[in-house]
This record gives sequence, structure tokens and C-alpha cells, in this order.
Amino acid sequence: MSRLVVVSNRVTLPAKGGVAPAGGLAVALQAALEERGGIWMGWSGKSSGSREPEPLSMQEHGNITYALTDLTKTDVEEYYEGFANRVLWPICHYRLDLAEYGRKEMAGYFRVNRFFAHRLAPMLKEDDVIWVHDYHLIPLAAELRQMGVKNKIGFFLHIPWPPADVLFAMPVHEEIMRGLSHYDLVGFQTDHDLTNFAGCLVREGIGEASGDGKFTSYDRTFKGGYYPIGIETAAFAEFAKKAASNIMVRKARQSVEGRDLIIGVDRLDYSKGITQRIDAFEQFIKSNPGYQNKVTYLQITPKSRSEVPEYEAMQRTVAEQAGRVNGALGTVDWVPIRYINRSIGRPVLAGLYRLAKIGLVTPLRDGMNLVAKEYVAAQDPQDPGVLVLSRFAGAARELRGALLVNPYDIEGTANAIARGLSMSLEERQERWGRMMEHLLERDVMRWCDDFLADLA
Ligand code: UDP
Repeated sequence: MSRLVVVSNRVTLPAKGGVAPAGGLAVALQAALEERGGIWMGWSGKSSGSREPEPLSMQEHGNITYALTDLTKTDVEEYYEGFANRVLWPICHYRLDLAEYGRKEMAGYFRVNRFFAHRLAPMLKEDDVIWVHDYHLIPLAAELRQMGVKNKIGFFLHIPWPPADVLFAMPVHEEIMRGLSHYDLVGFQTDHDLTNFAGCLVREGIGEASGDGKFTSYDRTFKGGYYPIGIETAAFAEFAKKAASNIMVRKARQSVEGRDLIIGVDRLDYSKGITQRIDAFEQFIKSNPGYQNKVTYLQITPKSRSEVPEYEAMQRTVAEQAGRVNGALGTVDWVPIRYINRSIGRPVLAGLYRLAKIGLVTPLRDGMNLVAKEYVAAQDPQDPGVLVLSRFAGAARELRGALLVNPYDIEGTANAIARGLSMSLEERQERWGRMMEHLLERDVMRWCDDFLADLA
């Protein structure tokens, strides 16, 4: 079996004793790397200021070598905050209005990809299989090819791929498309993303799609496919069951005693539809006054990317909105929305999912949305909750037992909350059973195996 080399913007080092376990993706990649032996390379998350970064910092754990590089302050500003998070992220989430394209940032993005390639290439062996992750590193294969690297290189995009008219608004879209053609396999989350990608290739005559998953562009032939990422379903379900005895979860249970819990869990990001969701919750209470004092909506929203102005502004908007709704609807003994701006560890999170009668997952656009899958996996089979899921999350392509909503339709989402809370046990079990069966079969290990098998 060939050695595996994983490259991603950030690297998850193995958890030290007692630290909460990493998410499913890291677990799956670590398992694949451990089995084949390999390297995981990425940014350390640290800046070297204006100095040239030190040589790669290498850490050996079992069969895996973690290779971390610092980046200069300018690199971080242009590559990461600038082009990746202020151009590619909004464009891929269909938010042309938020993209702030600049040539300096674009140049920084390509420069850092070249830098990654130069640091990676000397470590490669002839039959290594290379797997590059996500939108930060699209041009990496092209840079490696230019250095003479002939290895199999696969790419997986964790976020959505937009339709041609959205992508083409980005001035360097052709360079990005060209970058992808240097891979041997390009993987997306859903069939929609793959179709969008094919549309982008064909529209301007950049390339051709031959229909059997093969694409030709820029004198290269490569495969495209969709590989919906899963979670560690069985382990997460076990986790949630055990979490009932966790002290934090017990406290949460006591504090909502007698009320139904609705849960939302999202990084603070404009793609997650948090403001529309709070509007929908308010609408639900207004249309169903019988639920006053009978439900608690817990929204867990860790801050993210605070260095990007849109995110900073959003922190204020959401906090004000939650405060306003609590002021308008709350009573002396009832706070309708509990809004938490901190990250919650996965063991506690699993227990909270299980407590909740409704998992409210309503992004305006999301590559997959793992919270939706975790919510399902965490449920008690005897008394499962209901997933209310945006049709614009990648997960909606698979989780057909959810109540699917259009998050822009505030009343529709409000109605789905009401329907979920009054759903019979029989219907809840039937819907949950279908979803759980799917999640057990297509877990994150399977995702990893499927991608690597197609790449090989
Ligand atoms: N998460 C967490 N603690 C929190 C909030 C989220 O551990 O307080 C985890 C959550 O369990 C999930 C991940 O962060 O595994 C979020 O993944 P998702 O695909 O839903 O969204 P992303 O943040 O990647 O856009």
C-alpha cells in the first residue's frame, strides 16, 4: 500500500491525554495515515512576523509524521484572511456581495501555495499518494507538477462549489479552474457541487465532461466525483449515551426541566443562517403562543474569524437580535433564547444534542454540515428528536428523514419547528431510523476509503 501524504491548511495533532477527541475528519485521516504510514503537512497556525519562516517543524507520532510550517504575517493576511476567507469562502457560499477581491491577496494566495509545494516536494517518495484538502490549497497540485511531481494527487473540497455565474464573478476563476485540472481526482461533497463544477468547465469552453466522471481541460484528463463526508457515527452515538451522566449535561437537563429544548450549533458565520433562524424561532412563538414558557432555544455559537470585518459585525448583530427577542418574548421566569458565544467540547455537545427535541440546522448554504449528522447520531432510539434541516446544506441530499426547510422562508421554518415538537413517537422513530441507518453505513471511515480507492 502506498504511503499517504495529507496536506491541509491546518493540521490536527493527536489529542494528548484527557483532551477532548478531535472531530471525525481528523480521526479518519489519522486512521488512514496510521494504516499506510505517512505525512500530514500544513500551517502551524503561527506567524513568523516579518521574518522568513523557520524550516518545517516535524513531529513523529506512531506511523505519522506531522510537518508544520509557520507563515509570515503578510502570508496570513493575504493568503488566509484575504483570498481564502474573503474571496473563496463567500464565492463558494454564493455570497458575491461579500467577496472582496484584491490582486495583492490573490497573489499572496498563489505565493503561499508555491511555498507549500517547495516545502512538501523534498519529502515526497515516488509512489506516495497525495491528498490535498480544501479551498486554501487549490493551486497546490499545479505548483507540484511544475516541480516535476508525477505522483497521484487528489483534492477534496469541503465547502460547496458554486454555479458558473457566481464563480465567474471572481476575476481569477480561470486560474482556479486550471489549478483543479492538475489533480487526478477532484472530490466534492454532493452531486450538486459536481454538476456546478462541470457546468463551469463547459460554459466557457474551458473543458469537457465526458459523462463517466472524466473531465478534460487544459490538456489534462482527470476524474471528478462526489463523496459526502460522514461522521464517526457509532462512536458518536456511544458518546451521547454516556454523556447523560456528564455533570454539565445534568445541569443543563435540570435547568430546562419541564420545557422542550431546541438546539442550534454553528460557528458564527454568515453562511449558517443564524439571524433567519432566530427570526423563525420568534415567529414560531408568536404563531404558537401555547409554547410560551414551554420551550428553550439553546444556540451555541463559537466566534470564528474575528479578524474578518463581516464576522466581527455579525457578532454584534446576532447578540443584539437574541437580546431583542428575549426582551420582547421573555417573562420573569422564562428566557426563550440562551445564546452562548463559546465553544463547547464534544462530549458535552453530544449530551446536549440528545437532550434536544429539535435540532435546528438551517444554513443558507453549507458544504455538508456535520452538526446535522451528529444531532441524528446522538439521539435516543427510544425517543428520538426531530432534525429541522435546510435544503441548502449538503447533508440534505442524504438525510431525507429530516423536516427540510428553506431557511429564507421564516414562516416555513417556524411551522417546521411546531410540526417537529408535536410529531408522534412513531413518526419520529421512523424518520430517525432511516437517517441513522444511512449514517452508520456511510461514516467518515467509509468516506475516506471511497475517496482513496478512487484516487488509486
Ligand atoms: N463544534 C464543537 N463545539 C462547538 C461548536 C461546534 O465541537 O461549540 C463542532 C461540531 O461538533 C462539528 C463542527 O464543530 O463537528 C462543525 O462542523 P460543521 O460541518 O457543522 O460546520 P463548519 O464549522 O465546519 O462550517
